[in-house]
Amino acid sequence: MEKIPLYIDNQDNKGSGKSFKNYNPATGEVIHEVSGTSPDDFEKAIHSAKQGFKVWSAKSPTERGRILQKASQLLRARNDELAQIEVMDAGKPIREALEVDVTSGADCLEYYAGIAASLHGDHIDLGGDFAYTRREPLGICAGIGAWNYPLQIACWKAAPALACGNVMIFKPAEVTPLSAYKLAKIFTEAGLPDGVFNVVQGDAEVGQMMTKHPAIAKVSITGEVDTGKKVMAASAATLKHVTLELGGKSPIVIFEDADLDEAVHGVMLGNFYTQGEICSNGTRVFVHASVKEDFLDKLIQRTRALKVGDPSDPDTHVGALISKDHFEKVMQYIALGQEQGAELACGGKQVEVKGCEGGYFIEPTIFIAPEDNLRIVKEEIFGPVMTVLTFTEEEEVLQRANNTPFGLAAGVFTRDLRRAHRMVAGLEAGMCWINTFNINPVEIPFGGYKQSGIGRENGLAAIEHYTQLKTVYVAMDKMVNPF
Ligand code: NAD
Repeated sequence: MEKIPLYIDNQDNKGSGKSFKNYNPATGEVIHEVSGTSPDDFEKAIHSAKQGFKVWSAKSPTERGRILQKASQLLRARNDELAQIEVMDAGKPIREALEVDVTSGADCLEYYAGIAASLHGDHIDLGGDFAYTRREPLGICAGIGAWNYPLQIACWKAAPALACGNVMIFKPAEVTPLSAYKLAKIFTEAGLPDGVFNVVQGDAEVGQMMTKHPAIAKVSITGEVDTGKKVMAASAATLKHVTLELGGKSPIVIFEDADLDEAVHGVMLGNFYTQGEICSNGTRVFVHASVKEDFLDKLIQRTRALKVGDPSDPDTHVGALISKDHFEKVMQYIALGQEQGAELACGGKQVEVKGCEGGYFIEPTIFIAPEDNLRIVKEEIFGPVMTVLTFTEEEEVLQRANNTPFGLAAGVFTRDLRRAHRMVAGLEAGMCWINTFNINPVEIPFGGYKQSGIGRENGLAAIEHYTQLKTVYVAMDKMVNPF
């Protein structure tokens, strides 16, 4: 069985921490052994990153961009191979992985490769004297990934960090260790100097090595809200910069004048893609009472037609949940929804998949909830479980949509232009969609309001989070002596 090593200084590193197993969620079988990271290994990664920073930060931005561009081309050329890795590691359907997972990572590298050379400071005229700002890298950044989009998350963190002249030590989620390692090897092939992108493997314990280490200037994590809080608290001891991309319980509001077919499409995309394991999912679906029946008829009919199955089968729409624990958590929420009085309108059961007997499959599930106070309406489930609620007034639905500590995303379906913009202005969410859902091209900033996060990934906004401004005052005349 192949053992996944750490990757330090552009080389495999066996690691001296406790190794662990990596499972295929579709079969429950062990697919790899993974090297663990000991404190000594982590020190090696830090030492390597320090050397890497000297070399990388001194390169011209154009040169940095060229290497990132090359890495993006290599990712695209290996799309199918990498997509298969994501399927095996994360249980997601191959039809998604072939289209989205690798290309969105490649897009991100390409985007930041393109803007690396145009990053600059400002000149500020002070009437004789002047000042200028230098946009400088932060230093060694730690990237900590979640398991739902392992390769995409690694690219979303590495690309802006590296474009700005930082180096990164990346830790993928312990259940999806493989693609970050493959990405590191691709970076090496693209010409990235030693120590610029190191990969360590392990769980929260290794994550804590990152948040505690004084040599790390910034931590960017994608994960749960509670994890984000721990990361921020640990980072506070050395005042590290943080970017927190956390969970959500996002609303989708469907008004009576919406194109219902489009709304059904958006709601399915926003709940069942990647088995519902997407942070920005619109799991609270508010439908205007006057169109509720029509909407539900269409939604249930189309949801029943989805094929839950072997993720490597190109016909499969809904793959396997990431792990036994997570499967059990989602099933418990489904039971809880029924206990608390929600109507199970579709799905809700485990699915046995031929050839994938040990896998963790759940039917796409639709609840109709009588009120907003149920736990399935309030808590992030992170599985293929949607709740439909009814409303009648715009003001009322806006208040209910915002009545959550989360604030990652929101969607509005309506043909009324003014209402659409009025609604999104009032929604407390970092990412809002009008008449679509869950579309996240790299050009636009992404991140949460309230407890869904701090900072932004993607777009020009991410540059702010991977650089610091140095202001330089230049005196052109003799100093005035006040003494
Ligand atoms: P998680 O919080 O359990 O783990 C995330 C990562 O943090 C893992 O690599 C884990 O090893 C590490 N970690 C855990 N405890 C840590 C600690 N104390 N210090 C440092 N690192 C620690 O999340 P998960 O189960 O991997 O992912 C699912 C969650 O991620 C969901 O809540 C989902 O909404 C969120 N998510 C958010 C986004 C976004 O962009 N906002 C995207 C994808 C997933």
